[in-house]
Amino acid sequence: MDSNLDWLDDLSPAERAQLDLRARQIGGELFGSLERRQAHIWQWRYWDDRILDWSMRDERLKVQLFRFVDVLPMLHSGDAITGHLLEYLDRAPGRVAGAARRALHLADRFALTRSLVAIAARYSASNFARRFIAGENLPTVLRAARRERDLRRGFTLDILGEAVTSESEAEQYFRAYLELLETVSPEVRAWPEDPQVDRDDRGPLPRMNLSIKLSALDSQFDAIDPQGALRESGARLRELLRVARQQGAFINVDMESYEKKDLTLHIFKTVLAEPEFRDVTDVGIVIQCYLRDAERDLHELRDWAAQRGTPVWVRLVKGAYWDYETLKAKANGWPIPVWQKKWQSDANFERQTRFVLRNREHLRPALGSHNLRSIAQGIAFAEQLGVPQNGLELQMLYGMADSEKRALVERGQRLRIYMPYGDLIPGMAYLVRRLLENTANDSFLRAGVSERATPDMLLGNPASRASSPTAESAKGQSELREPQTTQEAPMPTTFANQPPVDFALAEHREAMRGALAQVKSQLPRTCPLVIGGETIATAATEVSIDPSQRSRVVGRFSLAEREHVDQAVAAAKRNLPAWSALGAERRAEYLRRAADIMRERLFELAAWAVLECGKPWREATADVDEAIDFCEFYAQQAIELERPGGKDVPGEENRFVHVPRGVTAVIAPWNFPLAILTGMSAAALATGNTVVMKPAEQSATIGSLLMEIFQQAGLPPGVLNFLPGRGEVAGAALVDHPDVALIAFTGSREVGLAINARAAEISRGKTARSRMVKRVIAEMGGKNAIIVDADADLDEAVLGVAKSAFGYAGQKCSACSRAIVLDDVYDTFLNRLVEATRSLKLGPAEEPSTFIGPVIDDESQQRILKYIEIGKQEGRLVLGIDAGKLAEQGSFVGPHIFADVPPTARIAQEEIFGPALAVIRAKDLDEALQIANDTDYALTGGIFSRSPQNLERASREFLVGNLYLNRAITGAMVSRQPFGGFKMSGIGSQAGGREYLLQFVLPRTITEHTVRRGFAPPSEDAGE
Ligand SMILES: Cc1cc2nc3c(=O)[nH]c(=O)nc-3n(C[C@H](O)[C@H](O)[C@H](O)COP(=O)(O)OP(=O)(O)OC[C@H]3O[C@@H](n4cnc5c(N)ncnc54)[C@H](O)[C@@H]3O)c2cc1C
Repeated sequence: MDSNLDWLDDLSPAERAQLDLRARQIGGELFGSLERRQAHIWQWRYWDDRILDWSMRDERLKVQLFRFVDVLPMLHSGDAITGHLLEYLDRAPGRVAGAARRALHLADRFALTRSLVAIAARYSASNFARRFIAGENLPTVLRAARRERDLRRGFTLDILGEAVTSESEAEQYFRAYLELLETVSPEVRAWPEDPQVDRDDRGPLPRMNLSIKLSALDSQFDAIDPQGALRESGARLRELLRVARQQGAFINVDMESYEKKDLTLHIFKTVLAEPEFRDVTDVGIVIQCYLRDAERDLHELRDWAAQRGTPVWVRLVKGAYWDYETLKAKANGWPIPVWQKKWQSDANFERQTRFVLRNREHLRPALGSHNLRSIAQGIAFAEQLGVPQNGLELQMLYGMADSEKRALVERGQRLRIYMPYGDLIPGMAYLVRRLLENTANDSFLRAGVSERATPDMLLGNPASRASSPTAESAKGQSELREPQTTQEAPMPTTFANQPPVDFALAEHREAMRGALAQVKSQLPRTCPLVIGGETIATAATEVSIDPSQRSRVVGRFSLAEREHVDQAVAAAKRNLPAWSALGAERRAEYLRRAADIMRERLFELAAWAVLECGKPWREATADVDEAIDFCEFYAQQAIELERPGGKDVPGEENRFVHVPRGVTAVIAPWNFPLAILTGMSAAALATGNTVVMKPAEQSATIGSLLMEIFQQAGLPPGVLNFLPGRGEVAGAALVDHPDVALIAFTGSREVGLAINARAAEISRGKTARSRMVKRVIAEMGGKNAIIVDADADLDEAVLGVAKSAFGYAGQKCSACSRAIVLDDVYDTFLNRLVEATRSLKLGPAEEPSTFIGPVIDDESQQRILKYIEIGKQEGRLVLGIDAGKLAEQGSFVGPHIFADVPPTARIAQEEIFGPALAVIRAKDLDEALQIANDTDYALTGGIFSRSPQNLERASREFLVGNLYLNRAITGAMVSRQPFGGFKMSGIGSQAGGREYLLQFVLPRTITEHTVRRGFAPPSEDAGE
């Protein structure tokens, strides 16, 4: 028996063989009737095909060409077009690119030829676009639909566009969907009937068929908040369903990326189970067979439809986001949700096709594919089940596989064409996806049309394409039988970041909700001092409160006085010799144990951060992730650091080692309440120092939890001491203490500079005990800018700036507080940014939908409000959200955007640490860079640009510690983006990087002269 056919385990061996034979027969017939005629040299299509052919031969050229297509709509002059084309080709080595580059360089010399190149490039791209996009307005799309009908094919319309960044854009989308339903439906109803298109075995079908995306109906469509998404997009979906019913039209819900999949299914099922829509039959949804979840989702959909009592349509596809899903999961360390081998997606598509066909009573089948084998298998299985020919709908994309379409219609199959319509600019992303699909190595179309593979190869059972037949099929079979969302992650051999919590998973949302409830039931937590392993409750205490709700006391903490500082430093000093002698390996064990405890308590710790520091869910879990990373990373780095170095020569042995500096004072801020406190402490501990840890007053409870975790991890008493208290008392006493060798501080510039000055003063003292120069590591503020270039992808730039400026209410030292925007795109960018920001939800941190929570306390709120008043004088207030009633219960400040701010204005120069953004106009990149660098700070910065030259220039000239190209500027990850700046932003090297630990140690070199009376032991270095 051919073990590969085990994939077909829902069939008996005889059925299997019969099905495969028939699928090959049907596929062969279809393949034989394909028109394999090439376009002529005078047709545009000929040139389109040549370009695709060239690009397919060289992956790097392909990437550069598609990048050019992507940016083209933003280029408005001949110079910009030829300039970009040259820049991209310069980055594509190879013969074809070289020839094109030489020709272009020639053309670039003269204004006339430059313009001609620009016209040709535009024309060619629009032609490409027109191949895949049915029209830019209603009349053209109607004409295209009519042409399809003349070819005996139905249609489904899709409105082009990618990211919906604001409520106003969601409203526009919704209106456009309504307009399509209301204008196209009556028109197409009047067309004469074509039974091959207009009927299936159950009767007439709606002619107007609209494909919609639920995320287009709600700018905050996010799985973290299913209720909110259901409320917003559900309301609009209901309205569309009502109008569709009036107009006799069909609504299909498309499927987008994996993070939206469960939410899309949830909203679809919830709305369509409501009494008003329970009987709607003209409605469908997409299931993507490249997903491991597909089988489970289909089973659940079938059960739901059976319960509902009315069937729904299912469009089975493989899926359009394979690369994105793969790289996103890899980047986050998540299980990869899509099959990793093409044949697995193909085999799954076949298996799910059979499932849907068997369950036709509840799930009406539509197959969306251009793969003749996938289609033929579907037709063959439908035949075997006795499904009438018109009982199976086939669907294909506009502009693709035209000869297949003809062959299928001639065979009498019912075929519907997916017709995207809309402007070229939003259309470019769609176009690039289609180009990628047409030229992908694994694509059926590429194999079938471009490379002339044999029918046998193309039409064979997908399982037979498994590279290692026995092993692969056995593995694949069990994977397919039990669809899972998880995959065994390989054991990391080096440091790997803690995967961020994926709130698209219901279990994580549940865990967060549960943790919040549990933590709330324990409030307030009592937080004593811990000195030498002893807990000390002081008479005087202070409280930390929930900034989202002033009446909620989160923690009650003891206040360390000067005497406690003396005791804690003494305990740390006493324990220093034993701890430092332990060695990095043993110390690493404690840190790794602490990391494990944090992993176990992840949601609980995050809940404390939500309640004590007003961190929204994602920010709060990311804070715990980072704390875990610091423990793991520094543990590993300290082991590396401990390996002795040194070069021996005959007669001389050299050892280069590091020793701890001594007692370390860690003075931490509240904005990353667990991560920064853990990071600074873990670095000191890993390298053999002992620590006195002082958290910020606003986050003392989280500090006490960290102390508890290290105690649970078994850290010897006195190695880490915990001193909550006032900065002016406990903090100042720690800085002053002569036995404190190192101060690791993160916080404001004012305090950082004061600590630095004070440490120098103390070091100058003449007492016997101050025999060292105190070392200060200080991470201070920023006035971070993002430059938006004239050719930037504005979808990305708007979202990137909004996230960087208003995430955690702008209270990250990495936050963006200046957007420097080039003249050409200034107004468009500003309008979209204002609308996008207006749509962000301001609210209590514990609500999952909240994007902007409170600021840390009332003092901070008042300071920010003062800056807002200054901003009103210095710039043009274009958005000022009033926190309204929220401000009565907590320390809320709504987001504010000031436009046309002079670069030297106070709000463009001073750190505000709140949700206020200055937007500054720049005439060109020179000016933008000059403005960006012209502050006291140099922490983070970013640029959105699609010009490789401009990106390179920014890399050289935009002088900040962390520069981000084409992404948000917050969210640095340990090891991947070591974090920290210079100028007034900090003293010291970047946290989470390889050099960070060097600041916690002293270098020593030990040299031994090994010659005794003219002889010496052999030296290893000398190879003797
Ligand atoms: C009418 C219609 C509507 C569609 N609607 C949607 C939709 O709403 N949402 C959506 O996501 N897609 C949708 N698609 C599907 C998508 O856009 C692609 O067209 C489709 O996946 C291509 O599959 P194929 O069978 O035509 O080609 P094939 O060449 O047989 O398959 C290509 C597909 O295989 C998968 N693949 C590629 N490489 C690998 C690999 N290494 N391992 C595993 N799998 C791999 C990918 O899904 C890729 O697209 C739709 C397609 C059509 C025709």
